[in-house]
Amino acid sequence: MNKRLHTRLAFIIIGISTCILLISTVSVILATHYHISLFHDQAAGMNHDVSQLNYHLEQALIQSIIWTFAGSIILAVLIGFYVANRISKPLVDMKQAAERMSDGQLDARVKIEGKNELAELGNSLNELAKQLHKQEQLRVTMTEDIAHELRTPLTTLKSHMRAFEDGIWEPTPERIHSCYEEIERLTKMVVELEDLTHMESPAFQLERNEEPLKSMIEQGVDLVSAAFHEKKVDLSFSCSPNIRIFADRNRMIQILVNLLTNALKFTPENGNVRIEVLEEQQDVLMTIQDSGSGIVPEDLPFIFERFYRADKSRNRRTGGSGLGLTIVKRLVNAHSGHVWAESGKQGTTFYIRLSI
Ligand code: ADP
Repeated sequence: MNKRLHTRLAFIIIGISTCILLISTVSVILATHYHISLFHDQAAGMNHDVSQLNYHLEQALIQSIIWTFAGSIILAVLIGFYVANRISKPLVDMKQAAERMSDGQLDARVKIEGKNELAELGNSLNELAKQLHKQEQLRVTMTEDIAHELRTPLTTLKSHMRAFEDGIWEPTPERIHSCYEEIERLTKMVVELEDLTHMESPAFQLERNEEPLKSMIEQGVDLVSAAFHEKKVDLSFSCSPNIRIFADRNRMIQILVNLLTNALKFTPENGNVRIEVLEEQQDVLMTIQDSGSGIVPEDLPFIFERFYRADKSRNRRTGGSGLGLTIVKRLVNAHSGHVWAESGKQGTTFYIRLSI
C-alpha cells in the first residue's frame, strides 16, 4: 500500500505535468513552424541567400525545445516523487500505526508534523489510541480486582463446604449462616459491579427532573431508618422545603442510602448521623456527618476508588464490597456535582455539592 499510494500519486503528478509540457511544446512547435514559413515567403521575395540563417534558426529552436522538454520532464519526475512522498507519507504512517494498534500495540502513535488536516487526522488517531489504551488498562485492572475480590470468599466457602463434607465440621446454624453471609456479600458485589459497569457505559443516562430535595432525603432516610433504629444510632436531617434540584430522584436516593449505610456501619451504638443542607449562591451543599470511627488521613484520598477498603479485614466482616463510594462518586459526577470527605477522630463528614 505504501509504494502503491506513493507511486500512484507520483504518476498522477508526473502525468499532469507531462500533459502541460506536451501542450506547450506542441504549441511552441506549431507557432515556430508558422513563423518560419512566413520568414521563408518573405526571404524568397527579397532574393537573398538565407539558407545558413534559416538552418541556424531552425537548429536553435529545435535544440531549445528538446532541452526544455527533457529538463522539464526530469524536473516533473523529481517534483512529482517529492510531492507524492510528502502527501502519502503521513497517510502511510497513520495506516501503519492503525495496523499496529489493531495488532494490540496500543502504545503506537503517529508522528505529527505541521498543522494541516492530515495533522488533525493524526491527532485524532493518537487520541483514539490513548483512549483504547486507557480502556484496556481499566479492563485489565478491573478483571484483576474482581478476581482478587472473588478469590477470598470463594476459598473460604470452599474450605467450609469441604469441612462439612468430610465431617470435620458440624453444619451448625451459625456456620451455615456465615456461609450464607459470604454468598450474600458476593451477590451484592455482583449487583453493584453490574450497576457500576452500566453507569460507566456511554449509554448511561440520568432521568432528571426538578424536584424538592427534601422529599428525596425523606425517602432515603425512610429506607434505612429501621436499620438505624435496630443499632440505636440516631438519624436526623434538616433541609428547607424550598430547595429544588434538577436531579434523578432514584439515583439521588441511591447516593444517600449508600452514604447512610456506610455511616451506620462505621458508627457505634448510641452514635448519631446527621444530614444537613445548605443553600449557597448557585449550589446546594449537602453534608452527611457521623460520629463513627473516622477514616485515617492515609486512606482518605483513596476511599472513592473501586474496591478500596480502609481496613480490609474489618470491612470484609461488615459486608463491604468497596464499591459503594465509587458508585456515589460516579452518580454525583453524572449530576455535574462534586463529592468529597473529611474525617477526624470524631467521625466522618461527606460533602456533596450540586448546582440548583
Ligand atoms: P464498602 O462497601 O466497603 O463500605 P465503600 O466504597 O462504600 O465500600 O467505602 C470504602 C471504604 O471507605 C470503606 O471500606 C471504609 O473503610 C471507608 N468508609 C466509607 N464511609 C465511611 C464512614 N462513614 N466512616 C468510616 N469509614 C468509611
